[in-house]
Amino acid sequence: MSRWVLHVDLDQFVAAVEVLRRPELRGRPVVVGGDGDPSKRGVVSTASYEARAFGVHSGLPLRTAARRCPDAVFLPVDRESYEAASSEVMATLRQFDAVVEVIGWDEAFLGVDTPDPEAVARRIQARVRGATELDCTVGIGHNKLQAKLATGFGKPAGVFRLTGRTWFEILGDLPTDALWGIGPKTARRLTGMGIGTVRELAAADPHELATRLGPATGPWLVRLARGQDDSPVVGTPYVARSRSRETTFQLDLEDWDEVRRELVLLARRVAQDVAADGRPVGRVVVKVRYAPFITRTHGHALAAPATEAFVIEQAAVAALGRFTERRPVRLLGVRAEFVR
Ligand SMILES: [Mg+2]
Repeated sequence: MSRWVLHVDLDQFVAAVEVLRRPELRGRPVVVGGDGDPSKRGVVSTASYEARAFGVHSGLPLRTAARRCPDAVFLPVDRESYEAASSEVMATLRQFDAVVEVIGWDEAFLGVDTPDPEAVARRIQARVRGATELDCTVGIGHNKLQAKLATGFGKPAGVFRLTGRTWFEILGDLPTDALWGIGPKTARRLTGMGIGTVRELAAADPHELATRLGPATGPWLVRLARGQDDSPVVGTPYVARSRSRETTFQLDLEDWDEVRRELVLLARRVAQDVAADGRPVGRVVVKVRYAPFITRTHGHALAAPATEAFVIEQAAVAALGRFTERRPVRLLGVRAEFVR
């Protein structure tokens, strides 16, 4: 018997839920985003594998998606249906003799004691499919980092094991942003320091990285590259870290008084979500996407944790005040981060 971490990740979750209720869409490129009208502005939430083959991915403007894949079926986002499907999947996972840590609506870690993690993974897949008709991929590792990364190699509907024994064989020559937690920005900084691959990062001197990237971040990056992660699988219920709303404007807002008015409306909607949640907010972040598609964010920390609408609104306005460029705006977003 040994301790394993399994990472369960639903395959093309949102698109899969849509295909389930519209079986005629199976095998066709499906794009979910905005209100489902690709002639309008908005971004892709999820694309089916068939649509991804045309270069359509989440975050892409709907119009670009329509250009890349004119035959795609476009559907509006139906959050409630996805949440219902998600709850059913998570309830299924909780039937296993395991610690279940839900980390998003379509993924969870399971801490399992078993001599045969592949067998458990196959049982999970079968039971999730039986309960919801949805496919998932299961990554297996000795820690969360390994399991999470393993999943990427098992897609779709597969099972993949990644441990310290196979870590460098599988990941060693990949760029550092193949690691969970390293984005393109950090990867670029590392490249600038002569560190291009996971193997090179693993061999880097943690002290040197600490001086260049920060005392916590530097050594953490090296541990990441070595596949080390001692964070436990925690069975406490999943709680969202923030509430957010965003709007894409059909015409760019050129008048910044109007930007401010729209921001206030958005902040009020977020404040309603926060009130429903009942937890205090510590920071409000505003996202501005300038035309054509350049995104910037600025945050404002509250003087004291608060739930009141006017405080959230004022914080959003303060964050907006940090945007100095007054160019036309295509999208606005407000995120209220809960105090942890
Ligand atoms: Mg997924």
